[in-house]
Formats: sequence, C-alpha cells, structure tokens
Amino acid sequence: MAETKRFQKKKESFKCIACGRETVGTGITDHCPYCLASIHVDVNPGDRASKCRGLMLPQRAEYSGGSYTLVYKCLKCGQTKRVIAAPNDNEELLSQLSEKAAAL
Ligand SMILES: [Zn+2]
Ligand SMILES: [Zn+2]
Repeated sequence: MAETKRFQKKKESFKCIACGRETVGTGITDHCPYCLASIHVDVNPGDRASKCRGLMLPQRAEYSGGSYTLVYKCLKCGQTKRVIAAPNDNEELLSQLSEKAAAL
C-alpha cells in the first residue's frame, strides 16, 4: 500500500457512536467492524468534507466477486453511499444484511 498517494488516509482511532467500541482506524475503512455503523463525514469518499456527522447505518450488503459492498444511509440527512466492506468486518452481520436484501 503506497503511502505517497494523494488520497486522504488518516490512521485515527474512533469510538463507535452506535455500539461504543473503540476501533483503531486502518486508514481505509471508516466504519465500525463490529456493528458496521459509520458517520457521515465524507462528501466524496475520504475527503471528510461533510458537516453532517449523522449516523450512517448499512441498509443492505451486496455480495459479488468475493466481497461485500455495503449500502449505507445517513439517518440525519438521508444520503446514501456505497462502501466496500473491510476484511475485518463482522461477517455474520454482512451475511444477514445480504440475506435481508435477497428477501426483498
Ligand atoms: Zn459499532
Ligand atoms: Zn448525513
């Protein structure tokens, strides 16, 4: 992984506002690996330009090509975003979310 890329990757730990667990940021993922909650901080992925700071929860997960894509919705402003799940994300929750999507 090249650290020289002009893409904002800050290694910061954050406390999940949904489940309260502390997560050491990998610089790639911005969501909690335990409950998958995220905070609306980006306008474009990684830019941290949003002033919203609402809680974003995954609505569903889509499994394709060997990885999950999470579809988030901000509970505050309603914006949605798609995020590729991290390798350490809660596998059980991911599969539950994708089953939910399949049942719709
Ligand atoms: Zn959490
Ligand atoms: Zn928002």
